[in-house]
Amino acid sequence: MPPLAFTYPGGPLVRRHGPSGYSDVQSFRAWLRDEFSFRCVYCLVREQWGKRLGEFDLDHFEPVASSPEASLEYDNLVYSCHACNLRKGKRQVPDPTQALLESAVRVHLDGRLSGLTDDARRTIAVMGFNSANLVRWRLTWMRIIDICQKNDPELFASLMSYPDDMPDLSTLTPPSNARPDGIGRSCYAQRERGNLSEGFIA
Ligand SMILES: [Zn+2]
Repeated sequence: MPPLAFTYPGGPLVRRHGPSGYSDVQSFRAWLRDEFSFRCVYCLVREQWGKRLGEFDLDHFEPVASSPEASLEYDNLVYSCHACNLRKGKRQVPDPTQALLESAVRVHLDGRLSGLTDDARRTIAVMGFNSANLVRWRLTWMRIIDICQKNDPELFASLMSYPDDMPDLSTLTPPSNARPDGIGRSCYAQRERGNLSEGFIA
């Protein structure tokens, strides 16, 4: 079992939302928060671990400098913490929605990561995921989650659950939406229907 807080998704991301036509990148934020389960696609830090203004960025997977035409394409945007966005910068990394999977990244109990595929290994190296600071950060959170799970169920539930301010995507009006059915499968809509699980792992 990988550490609970750092389980990468079980399979490649199949996008459920497809808004388009916005003239500014921030209009995609609500869609991306839901699409990426309110956590950073790279390091898995969660909004619930302390969301502060500016903590999460909308990262252009293909850098704008090399693909200016993709700057407002939803499928080129990923939800990333500010630190990972800075670390990535303009460098090319394999698509994290395809490369950073549970089957491709082994999370060790000492906080280190190892890649089981070329793309995962490359991402870990380029992003500096095994730097001393990041390993210490990961280990700290593994211990916090573990202690809470055993001793503080309320805090555990809070740290591992969805945020209170999930967006109601049905109220948004993008100029067009290639995947409108995804709104009904958003976390907000699932919670309204009472079938959103309490905690979530991936
Ligand atoms: Zn991150």
